[in-house]
Amino acid sequence: MTEVLLIKMGELALKGLNRRAFEDQLIRNLRRALNPLGDWSFSMNQSALQAVPQNENTDMDEAAARASRVFGISGWSRSARVGKTMEEILAAAPVYFRDTLAFAGTFKCEAKRSDKRFPLNSPEICAEAGGALLEAFPHLKVDVREPEVTLYIEVRDQHAFLHADQQKGAGGLPVGTAGDAVALVSGGIDSPVAAWQMARRGLRLTAVHFASPPYTSARAEDKVHKLLSIVAGWAGRIRLFVVPFTKIQEEIKEKCPEDLFTLIMRRAMMRCAEQIARRESCGALITGESLGQVASQTLQALACTDAVAHMPVFRPLIGTDKDEVVTLARRIGTFETSILPFEDCCTVFTPRHPRTKPRPGMLEKAEAALEMDRLIEEAVAGARYYGVDGE
Ligand code: ATP
Ligand code: MG
Repeated sequence: MTEVLLIKMGELALKGLNRRAFEDQLIRNLRRALNPLGDWSFSMNQSALQAVPQNENTDMDEAAARASRVFGISGWSRSARVGKTMEEILAAAPVYFRDTLAFAGTFKCEAKRSDKRFPLNSPEICAEAGGALLEAFPHLKVDVREPEVTLYIEVRDQHAFLHADQQKGAGGLPVGTAGDAVALVSGGIDSPVAAWQMARRGLRLTAVHFASPPYTSARAEDKVHKLLSIVAGWAGRIRLFVVPFTKIQEEIKEKCPEDLFTLIMRRAMMRCAEQIARRESCGALITGESLGQVASQTLQALACTDAVAHMPVFRPLIGTDKDEVVTLARRIGTFETSILPFEDCCTVFTPRHPRTKPRPGMLEKAEAALEMDRLIEEAVAGARYYGVDGE
């Protein structure tokens, strides 16, 4: 008997001819997540993937925790893998389920037989296994309607699997199957969640953060590194570019009308991010904006921001309420870090009365006072690079 992770793929099962490419990417991502715990072998059959540890003492609790953060998995369970005979199933069940059943009063078995040549059908497998378990644990009773524990026996093409803990997976598609995108990440609650959501749809992330020293501190930047390492725990390694933004902000403050500060700054951010995206072969930008949340996120303001971008801008939170974003941030693990009270460059020069219904024409006129191209070029050239790994 070997304990393995039995992994079910969600939407991958729907893919047609390129399904193989999705499966291969999922296996690469899982290998990267699990390899620090030892060697693994992976095999795929009938829309289930087995991750099999190659060393006896592999930490399966940690492996399960890591697998639960890999995108492209709809469900998984720790399973005992045994030979495909009733004798082996009956011998393994009382041993493997001992801890699970020790404190349970009632149970039921559910069997699934994808190999129809197996001599017993599903109800017969259940009856035999249930009988063996009742014999081994006389305190137990069968309750098919509301059992405390449900035990699953799956007879597949090569092996049989026993498991008791069907868990929900992280969902989505394997990171890397949708291409690369640049996420604009501040230290706030929203942008790490937005980046996570798009990674969950298969995008590999490059992050861009704008820092304005001395108005923003080293601790504010550390917070972004920390947030990204939490997101990288799900999304895999993230490339981070920290762009010096002080000069641009000071110029805007000196030369542009106050009610347009934030929007001109947001447009400058999009321009810098897009240049980095092109250089790094990324095909989209990701922001944490949500319609109407602040003055720079009204319909008209978003139109002005979009007007400077020449690639798709993904805003996965656009229709999401703040409390829903907070719930997601807690699930991802970023919330507690996001609420640490460090300044962001957005909060450095905030206008007293920001314009909520701007038109792109107004912004172009105001920006004519700046040497925008040169400012953007200098900022991008001054970016510092970091590789951020998952924690
Ligand atoms: P967040 O919680 O993500 O900071 P927010 O609701 O505070 O978002 P804004 O401050 O208006 O919104 O910023 C809107 C979006 O612009 C952010 O979600 C993020 O994608 C991007 N952004 C803002 N500040 C920065 C920054 N310093 N570096 C990189 N991107 C930023
Ligand atoms: Mg912010």
